[in-house]
Amino acid sequence: MDQPVTRFAPSPTGLPHLGHAYSALFGWHAAKKAGGTFLLRFEDIDPNRCRPAFEKAFTRDLGWLGLSWPEPVRRQSEHMADYRAALDRLAGLDVLYPCFCSRKDIQDEIARAGAAPHGPEGPLYPGTCRHMDPGRRAELLAADAPHALRLDVAAAARQTGPLTWTDREAGPQAAQPGILGDVVLARRDVATSYHLAVTVDDHLQGVTLVTRGRDLMEATHVHRLLQALLHLDVPTWHHHRLLMNERGERLAKRDGAASLAALRDSGATPAEVCRRLGMETP
Ligand code: GLU
Repeated sequence: MDQPVTRFAPSPTGLPHLGHAYSALFGWHAAKKAGGTFLLRFEDIDPNRCRPAFEKAFTRDLGWLGLSWPEPVRRQSEHMADYRAALDRLAGLDVLYPCFCSRKDIQDEIARAGAAPHGPEGPLYPGTCRHMDPGRRAELLAADAPHALRLDVAAAARQTGPLTWTDREAGPQAAQPGILGDVVLARRDVATSYHLAVTVDDHLQGVTLVTRGRDLMEATHVHRLLQALLHLDVPTWHHHRLLMNERGERLAKRDGAASLAALRDSGATPAEVCRRLGMETP
């Protein structure tokens, strides 16, 4: 692959920690070793969880580590029209349906059904609103009832036929578009979702190598389906290992001591952080 474009795309919902540093350095080296470009993007579609102060912390701490990127960075909250346009195209393909279920409705339905289909993260959406009577659906829409938009994955996969994608480490993959069920593409409160925004952005930004943690490998199956439906460019992926805490759990924001700010305050240098991560300095 010549001159890859990679990106690090954090959600600014907390202070950057060692896991973020690992992922950012991974993307940086993947680009720079091949003479490519490393981008930073803020996935800030959730106004309740994202904070400008955390965004500043990412900019400061990644800069401290020695990373740089072209400005201006893309902030998803500033590009809702792009996601709207993608939703319109998907609606035109007849692969979206409104979902009026609350979280509680979904739990109740799963409990009632007894044997709901399971995905890697637990029970999948049982499809309640996919089967809704069209008259009832029209009534609820006319009454402006709050709803999300879900992807009818089976209908979508019938349109695209079988798909494949490639992970640089794990090799060629047969897409399993149903792995996460009928995912939400526009939330009730925000007119997009992680899956839609990330897929549209990677295309618009010309990302050719998506580097991110293995925890997002299942999501890639869905992103590949969206790319096929929307005729977007298909990158290569490299899902990297996840950093664990002492308890063997994935390093998370609650492991406050591992924040880059705390490490810096305790006297760690960028070179020491890179060494601890088993990474070369940028
Ligand atoms: N915004 C996502 C996160 O912080 C990462 C998305 C991606 O790399 O695809 O987990």
